[in-house]
Amino acid sequence: MARHFDAIIIGTGQAGPPLAERFVTAGMTVAIIERHKFGGTCVNTGCIPTKTLVASAYAAHIIRRGAEYGFNVNGEVRVDMKRVKARKDEISGRSNKGVEEKLRGLKNCTVIGGHARFQSSRSVVVNDDVLEADKIFINVGGRASIPPLKGINDVSFLTNSSMMDVDFLPEHLVIVGGSYVGLEFAQMYRRFGSEVTIVEMGPRLIGREDEDVSEAVREILETEGIRVLLNAKCISLAKHDGQIAVGVECDDGPPEVLGSHVLLAVGRTPNTQDLGLDSAGVMTDKRGYIVVDDQLQTNVPGIWALGDCNGRGAFTHTAYNDFEIVADNLLNADHRRVSDRIQTYALFTDPPLGRCGLTDAEIRKSGRAALVAKYPMSRVSRAYEKSETQGFMKISVDAETKQILGAAILGTGGDEVVHVLLDVMYAKAPYTVVQRAMHIHPTVAEYLPTVLSKLEPFA
Ligand SMILES: Cc1cc2nc3c(=O)[nH]c(=O)nc-3n(C[C@H](O)[C@H](O)[C@H](O)COP(=O)(O)OP(=O)(O)OC[C@H]3O[C@@H](n4cnc5c(N)ncnc54)[C@H](O)[C@@H]3O)c2cc1C
Repeated sequence: MARHFDAIIIGTGQAGPPLAERFVTAGMTVAIIERHKFGGTCVNTGCIPTKTLVASAYAAHIIRRGAEYGFNVNGEVRVDMKRVKARKDEISGRSNKGVEEKLRGLKNCTVIGGHARFQSSRSVVVNDDVLEADKIFINVGGRASIPPLKGINDVSFLTNSSMMDVDFLPEHLVIVGGSYVGLEFAQMYRRFGSEVTIVEMGPRLIGREDEDVSEAVREILETEGIRVLLNAKCISLAKHDGQIAVGVECDDGPPEVLGSHVLLAVGRTPNTQDLGLDSAGVMTDKRGYIVVDDQLQTNVPGIWALGDCNGRGAFTHTAYNDFEIVADNLLNADHRRVSDRIQTYALFTDPPLGRCGLTDAEIRKSGRAALVAKYPMSRVSRAYEKSETQGFMKISVDAETKQILGAAILGTGGDEVVHVLLDVMYAKAPYTVVQRAMHIHPTVAEYLPTVLSKLEPFA
């Protein structure tokens, strides 16, 4: 006998749980299914644990710099990885428990543990139970990609998930992949005390960023003693006297990097291959992402896909925004669309990078007349008061409409400051609104008017 619900939600990542709550509050019955840990990637193996680890690493870094701030530390700063992990587990465990308890406490919400698979476009099987609904929401997220590198099956390697179990200090962590996930782990493990090497296939780190941003981030990491190897066209892995040899050239043999541990951080793969999507007739693209329209409905009416699995975002805030779009459109007859949102995210190295809007390359491609201003953090009083002067602020605006096109705030507080610009972009207001506003002294944001006073034609 099939059990019938108004809505079935597969996965408890960043969109599923708030969607369940909105639906039951609106009087619907909901079944929500989770096959592993409640809260998904962000809570268990992504944002929350990594930012908790970043905080421990920052504390160790600042203590090592004690003399600069006028205090002495007796002896070498040694990080106790068991305690660092315990703190991380406690903070991330609290969120994981919170998500489960919240869902189990919702009236008319049935929480089911198990792997869900479509049986048809209106039914899903979990643990031999058949569930039916006219509306089904897929929030299955993604996992670390494992590329078919030469030797990958001969060695053991870490991913962002297995890194969560590490309670020791790797002697030499070699990170394959110089993008967001890899760079955060690189800096934190260097600060914990490991030797760290980043091996990146492309000609620069975080290749989607502006060149000056990539360059500045590389300098920041290298200053801390992280080795960065770029243009590693043929990466291979092999056992070598109890270590792992990471080959970086297409020819066999040296140069290669010998590490005690290898972390693969080369992108994400959506969890869509074992969902029975064929039985429901739901289309995916070549990379396995579920194809959705601007309101996140799949090609099958009555089935929506939210979060990382739809390829329309790869962040917690994009997954949560997906929830808001779907819930408002279904429950409030709203007309919210994915294309209404402005790209924004942060790289949580220290200092962080806050990004919003278009990159330099995107502005160039758009062909519009633009102005740009760049200002070093070394001239920002809050930054030099804190002795955190690395990085710069860069803002681009449209020469005709005066609207902000994009910004990169690489510097202390950059992840927060960027929101000033983002909100003005949403308001479609001219940059002069920010330029004429009175801000609090001493903050990083108070320099935004100064930066904007230096606009000149975009090269
Ligand atoms: C190391 C790392 C750091 C990150 N840091 C940040 C950050 O600082 N800021 C940020 O915005 N983003 C960050 N992200 C990205 C962020 O974690 C994801 O974008 C976000 O978690 C996506 O959520 P989601 O709702 O799409 O799915 P997920 O959170 O991945 O959840 C999907 C859930 O579905 C379950 N599931 C899958 N298949 C099935 C099935 N067939 N049946 C039942 N259940 C199923 C899974 O077990 C999982 O619990 C980070 C990611 C990583 C890897």
